[in-house]
Amino acid sequence: MRCAIVHYHEIALKGRNRKHFEERLVGNIRWMLKDLGVKCVENPRSRIHVLLPDEIPDQTIINRLTRIFGIANFSLAHGLPLDLAHPDLGTLSQAVIESIRSEAFATFRVSVKRADKRLTLTSMEVARDVGTAVCDATGKNVSLKDPDLTVYLELLSKKAYYSIRKIQGPGGMPLGVSGKVACLISGGIDSPVAAYRMMKRGSRAIFVHFSGRPLVSRASEEKVRELVQLLTAYQYKSKLYVIPFGEIQRDIVASAPAPYRVVLYRRLMIRIAQELAKKEHCWGLVTGESLGQVASQTPENLTVIEAVAELPLLRPLIGMDKLEISDQAEQIGSFAISIEPDQDCCSLFTPSHPSTKAKLEDILRIEQMFDINTLVKQGLNNAELSQFTFPQ
Ligand code: ATP
Ligand code: MG
Repeated sequence: MRCAIVHYHEIALKGRNRKHFEERLVGNIRWMLKDLGVKCVENPRSRIHVLLPDEIPDQTIINRLTRIFGIANFSLAHGLPLDLAHPDLGTLSQAVIESIRSEAFATFRVSVKRADKRLTLTSMEVARDVGTAVCDATGKNVSLKDPDLTVYLELLSKKAYYSIRKIQGPGGMPLGVSGKVACLISGGIDSPVAAYRMMKRGSRAIFVHFSGRPLVSRASEEKVRELVQLLTAYQYKSKLYVIPFGEIQRDIVASAPAPYRVVLYRRLMIRIAQELAKKEHCWGLVTGESLGQVASQTPENLTVIEAVAELPLLRPLIGMDKLEISDQAEQIGSFAISIEPDQDCCSLFTPSHPSTKAKLEDILRIEQMFDINTLVKQGLNNAELSQFTFPQ
């Protein structure tokens, strides 16, 4: 009998939210393991038990569970039948000893959780009994403070589970408890990290990318597709809207003063993304902007960009520096994809001296030279939708 024992942080769960959080996490685990043949996911007090069919390799389970937000840590455990009135600690000890035979360690301890108080032994008694048996069989010593290896025992009403490794989960909140957001994704380093951070707080993501097509090749789009596929492992289904933006940019270049181009592009991107966001029932827009990183990310320009947003404009990386963002990108696995060379729409017609201090009244005046509604409609009409699934 194999089982994953999943723990979640309870600090995040206050009052009425708790039940909602737990139900969502159980539902997500069930859904995200369904294709592997996992059927039984239970939630006995403050942990989740996932019964695992024998044929699924450990590594497959680990790959899945380390990508389910809301999981603080988990262990892969084996189980034996337990009789509360006559617990058979001899058989349990023997199984534990077998499972640690190939482990390298000098010291160990046994940690016992007893879920059913009808058990005739206390946690301490069980720990002492099993610990002594392990000492006798292996010649290793107990260290309660700083052991090399910990044997975890969970004693339930009908089963005893044992495991020796706790694996870190991704933390955060279960996907879906914080609604849906639309992420502007560029193929650079920042925006995939921004999307990840919102997903980790429980928001499902849809993705919007502006490509330089028809004026550049598809390079940035290919990168974005790879990035979206990578992030789809955390939510199992993603939508990506790709909007050919080259012609719209050409229109802006033809009439607007060069230093203001980038802010004008961004404001158009926000307008177009926002219409898609509304259609998809998203409550916010997400960008990878971080304060001061480039000319378009000064306080003045961020303010002017934000002014066009009707939905909350979320910038989860605003206070992070490039190194912190890059580290996080490495952890997620997006860094290697993001640094591949490409040409995206932002490298088109980039002015050599962009304005770092756009004024809203100037921008509004310049925008009057354009038929903004028509440009937005043109973007929306040409948007191409792709669906991603995990596994592919
Ligand atoms: P990134 O590393 O995400 O490309 P960046 O540091 O290059 O960000 P900018 O180019 O100023 O910064 O882009 C700021 C944000 O605007 C991006 O993080 C992204 O959310 C959005 N954005 C920029 N270009 C595009 C694009 N072509 N398609 C969709 N969103 C974009
Ligand atoms: Mg960029």
